[in-house]
Amino acid sequence: MHADLPRQAHISWWMEEARADASFDASEPCPPLAGSSRSDVVILGGGYTGMWTAWFLKERDPSCDVLLLEADELCGSGPSGRNGGFCYGVWEDLETLVKFFGDADAVRVAEIAQRSVDEIETWLTTQGVDAWFTRAGHLTVATSAAQDGAWGPLVEEAARLGVAGGRFVELDQAAVRARCASSVFGAGLLQPQNATLQPARLALGLRKALLERGVRIHEASPVARFAEGPPVVVETRDGATVTAGRGVIGLGAWASSLPRFRRAVVPRGTYIVVTEPAPERLADIGWTGGEGLADWRTALHYLRTTPDGRIAFGAASAAVGVGVGLGPRLRYDERSVVKLIADLRRFFPSWNEVAIDAAWGGPMDITGRHLPSFGTLPGGAMHYGLGYAGGGVGPSHLGGKILSALALGIEDEHTSLPLVELDMMRFPREPFRSVGAALTQHAIVRKDEAEDRGGRADPLTMFVAKIPRRMGYELGP
Ligand SMILES: Cc1cc2nc3c(=O)[nH]c(=O)nc-3n(C[C@H](O)[C@H](O)[C@H](O)COP(=O)(O)OP(=O)(O)OC[C@H]3O[C@@H](n4cnc5c(N)ncnc54)[C@H](O)[C@@H]3O)c2cc1C
Repeated sequence: MHADLPRQAHISWWMEEARADASFDASEPCPPLAGSSRSDVVILGGGYTGMWTAWFLKERDPSCDVLLLEADELCGSGPSGRNGGFCYGVWEDLETLVKFFGDADAVRVAEIAQRSVDEIETWLTTQGVDAWFTRAGHLTVATSAAQDGAWGPLVEEAARLGVAGGRFVELDQAAVRARCASSVFGAGLLQPQNATLQPARLALGLRKALLERGVRIHEASPVARFAEGPPVVVETRDGATVTAGRGVIGLGAWASSLPRFRRAVVPRGTYIVVTEPAPERLADIGWTGGEGLADWRTALHYLRTTPDGRIAFGAASAAVGVGVGLGPRLRYDERSVVKLIADLRRFFPSWNEVAIDAAWGGPMDITGRHLPSFGTLPGGAMHYGLGYAGGGVGPSHLGGKILSALALGIEDEHTSLPLVELDMMRFPREPFRSVGAALTQHAIVRKDEAEDRGGRADPLTMFVAKIPRRMGYELGP
C-alpha cells in the first residue's frame, strides 16, 4: 500500500459523519429477512430509487404493505450514501433528450425532473431532516484550454428551445474565480437552480421516514434470485422468501449482474477524497458560497465544500470492465485515489498542507443512452429503474414517483414520460463489452490528462475514445 494513501472510509465519509451524529439518527440496522413473508410490493435495493419508491407508495396508498430488501448493512450503503451530493435534474442532458425524444418531450422531461430538486428541499424541511441542502448553484468550469466554451452547444440548444433564461448563466474567468479562486479555472456555466446536500443524511433520513410509515425494511438481506411473476417471488441468499403482487428493482449498477440487464448497464467506478477541515483556506480561495463545482473533462472532476470547511473532490476513473466488476476496487482504488489527490493539489496548491481525511468510491450505472430508464418486465408485475450514470440524486426522486405509479397501476404525467419503457441500447457481448469498455475508458482518461497538461491527445487515443459515440452510444467525447 502507498505510504501516503488516506484511509478508506467505512462506506463513505458522509455515512461516518451522519452516523456519528446521535442527534441525527441512532437507529440500529434492521434484521435480515427470515422465513416466508408476503407483501403487496417488494422492493429490491435500499438506495434512493428503492426508498423513494417506498415513500411514494405509502403516500399514494397508506395501506400498501411494502417490504424492502437491502444487501448491505444499512440502506444507503451503495452510491446513494457515497455520492458527491450534487442535486440536479437532467437539463445538462438537453441535447441527448432532444436527439431521442424531440423538442417538446425533451423540455417536458427536463422540467419535470428539475421539480425533484425543489421537492427534495421541501421534503427535507417538512420531515425535519438536516441534510445540508444548499441551493448555491452548480458551476461547471473549463479547467483546460480544450474545455473552453464546451457548454456553447448546450446553451445554444436551450436558447433555441426558449428555455435558457435564468437557467444557464455564462460566467467569464474573473466571475468564476470570484466564486472560487483556482489558477486552473477558466470561464464557466452556472446553473443557479441546483443544489448540494449531504447524501448519507438524505439516505438515512429517508430510511427513518419509511420505518415511521411502516415500511418493512430488512438489511443484510441480499437477493439471490427472483421469479418475475405474477406473483413475484424473491429469495435471499439465506433462503428466506417474499411473495408479492408487485416487485421493484432498484439495484443501480448491481442490476448489471442480472441476465436481463447484463447488456444494458455497465458499472463504472468513481471515487472521492475528502480533506480535513480548513475553513480559513476556503476563505483564502473565496469559495464560501457553497457552489457545487465540476469541470468539462469527459471523465469529469466534481468538487464541493462541507459546512465545516472541507473539500470533497471526486472523479470518474478508469476502473471499469475486465477484472473489476462490482468488486472491492469499486470501494477503494489506490491509483484513482493517488490521482485525485494530485488533481486536488493542482487545483488548489494552497491546500498542499491540508491532510486528506478519507477516500472511497462506488459504481455508477452507465447505459448506452446516458439516460435513466424505467419500465416493466414481461409478465407485468416487476418494474425497474436504473441508469442514472452518476447523476441520480435528483432523478431517483422522479424514479420513485414513476415506479410507485407503475406498481399501483396508476397512469400519470410521470409514467407518460419517454424515459418509461425506453428501449435500452444493448452493449456488445462479453468479452467484447468489458475489453471495449476498458480500452475506451483508458483512452478517455489519457485524452483528459493530455488536455489537463495543456495539450491534445494523439489521434489514436482520440480514435479509441470516440468509438462508443461512433457506435451510437451517448458516451465519451
Ligand atoms: C462516488 C459517487 C459519486 C456520485 N456523485 C453523484 C452526485 O454528486 N450527484 C448525483 O446526482 N449522482 C451522483 N452519483 C450517482 C448516484 O449516487 C446514483 O445515481 C444514485 O445513488 C442511484 O440510486 P439507486 O437507488 O438507483 O442505486 P444505489 O444507490 O446503487 O442503490 C442500490 C442498492 O441495491 C443494493 N443491492 C445490490 N445488490 C443487491 C441484492 N442482491 N439484493 C438487495 N440489495 C442489493 C445495494 O447495496 C444498494 O444499496 C454518484 C455515484 C457515486 C458512486
